[in-house]
Amino acid sequence: MTVRSIIMKKMDRGEADEMVIFISREKGWLTGVAKNSRKSRVRFGGHLEPLCIVDIVVRSRQKDNMVWIDEAHMLTAFLKIRNDMELVARTSYFLELASVFLPEGQPDENVFDFLENFLVTVDRSTPSPMEFLIHEIHLLALLGYRPVFSNCPICEKGFSPNTDAFFTPNLGGICHRACLDERSSTTIRISPATLAALRHLLDSDSRLAGRIKIGRMARAEVRESLSAFVRHIKGEDLQSLRFMEKVGYT
Ligand SMILES: [Zn+2]
Repeated sequence: MTVRSIIMKKMDRGEADEMVIFISREKGWLTGVAKNSRKSRVRFGGHLEPLCIVDIVVRSRQKDNMVWIDEAHMLTAFLKIRNDMELVARTSYFLELASVFLPEGQPDENVFDFLENFLVTVDRSTPSPMEFLIHEIHLLALLGYRPVFSNCPICEKGFSPNTDAFFTPNLGGICHRACLDERSSTTIRISPATLAALRHLLDSDSRLAGRIKIGRMARAEVRESLSAFVRHIKGEDLQSLRFMEKVGYT
């Protein structure tokens, strides 16, 4: 069968084959082997590249959970993304999030469509760092881990305009200072201005998000909250997240 796919990773396998990890709209995450792909330029030449949208003809293998890749046809190459190291890092992080939180073999059309639209958007007009954060919150929500920036999960009340909020990773949302107790290990302070701007961005049309001015501090508060949250739910570090932090793409 043919599956619409986004390639996450490609590795050499043995002398002539390649192994590809990709998310497909029809079958979810798959690991495929393209036999002789390093020799057969006709069948595969340049079609199995990371971050591309590709139609892949797959066939199941008897011996394991992987699939054979019989053919591949590139649909969108996203050259602008692939020629920009920062965009590669940022988009790879989104794919890693989806690979970590969407179990293998479990298709999710909404997640796939989100990722496809996201890549198209990034390739067309590079989003600001804050817009990347808003996209990230939307993706986490689709994956079943919506970080909550509205009511406190402990008392269920909202936040008055001049109150600090404390993002608490193990509760998945912002809490009042007075509500924090031993259940809340690490917290990240979110200032009232950051919270107001973030709420506004989350409520507004994504096309307007670029026009809302957000300071560096505010962005750092949100970035730190999401990173701590993702690490908490994964239970360990994410390679692409650590890389982005290391090179300063925050
Ligand atoms: Zn509270």
